Amino acid sequence: MQPLIELHGVSKSFGGLRAVDGLTATIRRGEVVGLVGPNGSGKTTALNLITGNLTADSGAIVFEGRNIEREAAHRITRAGIARTFQLVRVMPTMTLAENVAVGAMFGARPCGPSEAEERALPLLVRVGLAPRAGERAQSLTYIDQKRLELARALAAQPNLLLLDEWLAGLNPTELKEGIALIASLARDGLTIVMVEHVMDAIRALCTRCIVMNAGAKIAEGTPAEALADPGVVKAYLGD
Ligand code: ADP
Repeated sequence: MQPLIELHGVSKSFGGLRAVDGLTATIRRGEVVGLVGPNGSGKTTALNLITGNLTADSGAIVFEGRNIEREAAHRITRAGIARTFQLVRVMPTMTLAENVAVGAMFGARPCGPSEAEERALPLLVRVGLAPRAGERAQSLTYIDQKRLELARALAAQPNLLLLDEWLAGLNPTELKEGIALIASLARDGLTIVMVEHVMDAIRALCTRCIVMNAGAKIAEGTPAEALADPGVVKAYLGD
């Protein structure tokens, strides 16, 4: 499979702290890759570097053959990378349909507002929110805001979808639905990188797993291989 995105020795420090330390990784088209590791290991920072929410101190990020490590976030979205956030970011006073339409208007295939609203509806159906399309986002529960945020990310028609703990906090039924939804996106051929602590979800969904600790990659392989690695077990349990 062709590489979709490559990270070459990417580093980012905050003051004296190396949050991401020489990260090198390749994600190929059609993969669902789990990005796992203990809290503070640099996973969210890695996503922020890919999406241009943060700029790397050094290293290169190549998406579809093009260097993006110095690009602004909105240009990276245009280039075809969409994401959800660990702390959801919906626009509370806009309707669900409008929230999703914004994703379409500023995504990889930008369009005007009326086409954007047309694109929004099937996505609201897909995440189970269609009956509430006209309600304001502020009326949603936290979990439904996560669904909405996913619909907005999909409206951008990305080639790479980044999920930051999208399954966190779901009850068992919601988790099953959430896993089924991500699996259906993968079946459609979408390439997905998911930061996730729910290991059952990683095992069910991911073709490959990258494990980080203290900013660096410490293991990589199938979920079964990577999670059984002695270094990984030690990183999770502490010294
Ligand atoms: P993870 O997603 O694996 O939990 P993060 O990428 O959020 O880890 O954080 C990695 C390290 O960088 C942590 O020690 C965290 O406190 C620190 N960090 C993350 N973002 C910032 C920031 N904006 N300013 C200062 N330190 C940060």
